[in-house]
Amino acid sequence: MNLILMGLPGAGKGTQAEKIVEKYQIPHISTGDMFRLAIKEGTELGTRAKAFMDQGELVPDEVTIGIVRERLSKDDCEKGFLLDGFPRTIAQAKALEELLTDMERSLDYVLHVDVPKNQLIERLTGRRICPTCGATYHVVYNPPKQEGVCDKDGAALIQRKDDQPETVTKRLEVNLEQTQPMLDFYHDKGYLVSINGSQQIDKVFQDIDGKLGDVAK
Ligand SMILES: [Zn+2]
Repeated sequence: MNLILMGLPGAGKGTQAEKIVEKYQIPHISTGDMFRLAIKEGTELGTRAKAFMDQGELVPDEVTIGIVRERLSKDDCEKGFLLDGFPRTIAQAKALEELLTDMERSLDYVLHVDVPKNQLIERLTGRRICPTCGATYHVVYNPPKQEGVCDKDGAALIQRKDDQPETVTKRLEVNLEQTQPMLDFYHDKGYLVSINGSQQIDKVFQDIDGKLGDVAK
């Protein structure tokens, strides 16, 4: 089961990743984790990546791809993998394709957890945080008992700058701009499966599971 998971911030990708990983017993491989592991293990590529990151520079694709190869070659990927946050560009997607061919593997699906932009804005701008204890709430999905007040300590809840409508809209637009070419690329290749992410969490997973069940058989 070789998968890529895609979705905009707020689409619930992380939650679905957890469920997929648990059911199909494949590792969830996020770009950040992959770099951290390579750096911790002190591999040559990890050391090179760290040098770029320490200077605040982007890690070049050749290094990133090498780290992906190292990660996918580990024993826990024998049954498959769930890539999250990689590839980020068409160049990386093409490099991944070559890499997988070289490893005599291929993708099964690119899962896209699809949620309309206006709904993402609602999800992302509804978050409220307690400045005292750090508890998080959501005005629609997880409201405090009394509006605007922390359940635990009675402090007035705040909205972080990152969660304000203008910031959220901008973040989504930038993300969409980066993501769309990849969605088109994988659609043309026949790998893309769009999942309706507007539904309840369990229903979203049911849809994913239904799709993946066909491969697992
Ligand atoms: Zn609190």
